[in-house]
Amino acid sequence: MQANLPAAIGFMAEVHQDDARPLEPLFAARGSTARWHERTADRTLHTVLLHSGAPDEAYAREHGRTLLFAGELYNRDELSGLLPGRVLPSSDAALVSALFDGYGVHAFRLLNGRFAALLADRERVVFATDHAGSVPLYACVAPGQVLAATEAKALRGAAARGLPISQGRAVRRRPGTCQVPAGSVLDIQVSTGMCVSHRTWTPPLARRILPEDEAADTVRRALERAVRARTGPHTPLVVLSGGIDSSAVAALAARRSAGPIDTVSMGTDEADEFPQARVVARHLGSAHQEITVPTADLLLGLPHAIWAAECPDPDVIEYLLPLTALYLRLGDTGSDGDTGGDGDTRGNHGTGRRILTGYGADIPLGGMHRESRLPELETAVCHDMDTFDGLNELTPTLSAMAGHWSTHPYWDRDVLDVLVSLEAGLKRRHGRDKWVLRAALHDVLPHEVVVRPKLGVHEGSGTTASFSRLLTDAGIPQDRVRQAKRLVVEEIYDQVVVEGRHPDEVALDAVVELIADRSAHHPCPVPR
Ligand code: AMP
Ligand code: MG
Repeated sequence: MQANLPAAIGFMAEVHQDDARPLEPLFAARGSTARWHERTADRTLHTVLLHSGAPDEAYAREHGRTLLFAGELYNRDELSGLLPGRVLPSSDAALVSALFDGYGVHAFRLLNGRFAALLADRERVVFATDHAGSVPLYACVAPGQVLAATEAKALRGAAARGLPISQGRAVRRRPGTCQVPAGSVLDIQVSTGMCVSHRTWTPPLARRILPEDEAADTVRRALERAVRARTGPHTPLVVLSGGIDSSAVAALAARRSAGPIDTVSMGTDEADEFPQARVVARHLGSAHQEITVPTADLLLGLPHAIWAAECPDPDVIEYLLPLTALYLRLGDTGSDGDTGGDGDTRGNHGTGRRILTGYGADIPLGGMHRESRLPELETAVCHDMDTFDGLNELTPTLSAMAGHWSTHPYWDRDVLDVLVSLEAGLKRRHGRDKWVLRAALHDVLPHEVVVRPKLGVHEGSGTTASFSRLLTDAGIPQDRVRQAKRLVVEEIYDQVVVEGRHPDEVALDAVVELIADRSAHHPCPVPR
């Protein structure tokens, strides 16, 4: 296993009560592939695991039960305290399996992590997502056969066989496949396909009233712990815009790192936030790199971003496209800080990086709404926390496509609980958005960074503007651009996710031409 990466970054598993032929799954995530076939009196389990060198650490077999685990846990210490007298299991999969012994499906309520899991136990299959559904999990269920995978496209050949399960989330143009909701356990009886679901997490609905100091202190401690839990033995790499969110993560990572951390910023030939990021990199003494992506190349990456994120929402794709472009160009970034020869038999093959981002802080804090009225700010936070699920904004596949593992401290379960639950007046205060976060970090960053206003990655990289121009240049009128972006993204989604085409085979100009043509012939274009 690469010590920088979780044991597994994805899987596909099929449980059959007959002799069905296993699928040949497609994944955007890159990893070594291990396959198993396991036959018991009750069923056959076929597994394809995407791993980082030690596949045995991504599954656990105990008492006739098999657990597959893609991703990682961030509260191992707490969890191991629940196993009195037992040796701390050697892997997250073994730890979850041991907790399952004591708590059954309710074990998943205990976990703070970034994972998707599947447990096959005789006549039963259990699917579980982390609180945020940050590692997407798709399923296809019919009497006598249950399939699941961390990418929808991996289940392509199975879609026709599945029955819709009411507890699942619908997947565009894939009626036989559903997405396992965030913070959920689905407990399925294989012979009937019957499903019992449990919510293991929901966003807090009540709000906490705290004095300013205490609120800032609570946020600081939660974020410090989340950054610590996400930092492996090697030098962490922070994708840094120079805004408060990623600068805070970089500052906390730097404080606990023996040597300089690595930071990297992306920009395009049209727009960047390089000067802002440089201020932070200089302040922290990080080994900093700037990567400039030509705008034309950025846009050509649209099929890759959609392939990885499996999201047909054009706004989300605009946020994710610049980051995908950055991850795909990380190969030459800095050193990975590995001194090697540490006696760790897992070794360090390959160059996969552990990446920390500042992604998602705006969702619980209402940062992107630029809203100073508290009722409207709170309404926006409630709405965003109600609707994040299924968008796959946090998916590790964006970076896993390039062989890296990204993780987002603001969406740590405990950080999120704190951030969401603070009363709106702590989020917007003294004329500043995300006030409590700024107050929490004021001592570790330059003042100009602490007070820097929000700039979204889609704005700072010029992605929104250049995507719009791609469409207006193709003859789409300005007032139709928004709708046309949706159609372009959906068309690409259909090609790479529904039809399973490789993104390199998608001709972006042909897609844009198709949508421009449709737009010209249909005054009010209707999605297919
Ligand atoms: P934002 O939309 O600005 O909230 O961006 C989300 C996260 O993406 C940030 O917290 C950073 O970790 C990362 N990010 C945003 N812009 C850049 C950039 N230009 N270069 C590198 N990372 C970035
Ligand atoms: Mg930003």
